[in-house]
Amino acid sequence: MFNTFLLYHEDFLKHDTGLHPENRDRLTSIMGYLKSEEFLDDFELIRPNPARLDWIKRIHEEEYISYVETLCSSGGGYLDMDTPVSAESYKAALLAAGAILKGIDLTFQHKRPAFALVRPPGHHAERSRGMGFCLFNNVAIGARYALEEYCKSVAIVDWDVHHGNGTQEVFYSSNQVLFISIHQSPLYPGTGNYTEIGSGEGKGYTINIPVPPGTGDSGCIQAFNEIITPILHEFRPELILISSGFDGHNDDMLGGLTLSCNVYHTMASALFKIAEKYSGGRIVATLEGGYDLTAIPKCFINTICGIEKKEPYVVENHKDGREIYDRLRNLKSFFNRLWNI
Ligand SMILES: [Zn+2]
Repeated sequence: MFNTFLLYHEDFLKHDTGLHPENRDRLTSIMGYLKSEEFLDDFELIRPNPARLDWIKRIHEEEYISYVETLCSSGGGYLDMDTPVSAESYKAALLAAGAILKGIDLTFQHKRPAFALVRPPGHHAERSRGMGFCLFNNVAIGARYALEEYCKSVAIVDWDVHHGNGTQEVFYSSNQVLFISIHQSPLYPGTGNYTEIGSGEGKGYTINIPVPPGTGDSGCIQAFNEIITPILHEFRPELILISSGFDGHNDDMLGGLTLSCNVYHTMASALFKIAEKYSGGRIVATLEGGYDLTAIPKCFINTICGIEKKEPYVVENHKDGREIYDRLRNLKSFFNRLWNI
């Protein structure tokens, strides 16, 4: 049995993007894999409800929300050149946000982890615009909800290959949300330099770790061990949210980090140890990117196994990545001025 609640709804598939890389097959590949490996019955599968509009409004401007609704009800279109929407996309986006809210309820009620297996993804969506396949910023809506309903501090760890610009924008001046992103640079959307550290009260609460293409498992693990984990120990979050994109995998068409699915297990177990220490194990992951239909189910199940202190289910042969030891050392000393690490 798995201890992690799985939030899923078949209406996520109604967000119809045609032949776009962010399409319904991403979710059906994960669900199909769980079924074929006979894992599906081992999960407590929860069907979420759409988020109430007032939670979306906490993060997004009303004008933008109405624009998305109107565009969808007129049959669909494009929010930007990368972000198509269809007639049902608005409802799917409310449901995706609702899934993370439900995951947060469950993790606070039961002290068990949750994974919101959703689409559309969210971390690129800014207050007043959708972009990069994202409509509403699910993880940001979740963090705000948790702060209003349950706790005073939330850490968001974003390991998608792309920088979570939208999430960063929302919490840039907050000291209640620690936003940590490790991402490939250079890459879309171009933000996420290490010098972007937050402003005002939020100074030091945005941590960006840009890493070069070819970084590989060893570089990511080094960043976790030397920067991400020590900062989380200083922050002592009452809840950890993971923006869990799997597009850092070696086979992904959009990223070049050359990660194996092994590393998602390592990163997830590192985060769970923090969650266990400071919050009795409260951790909620939400799906962001990840476009290789064979890789994402393996990355997903390894993430779950990492969160649950199980051995990795899939172990891939992995060539070690580029040596970035010195660069990460320099980043560590930069962040050492903000946090005692
Ligand atoms: Zn991505």
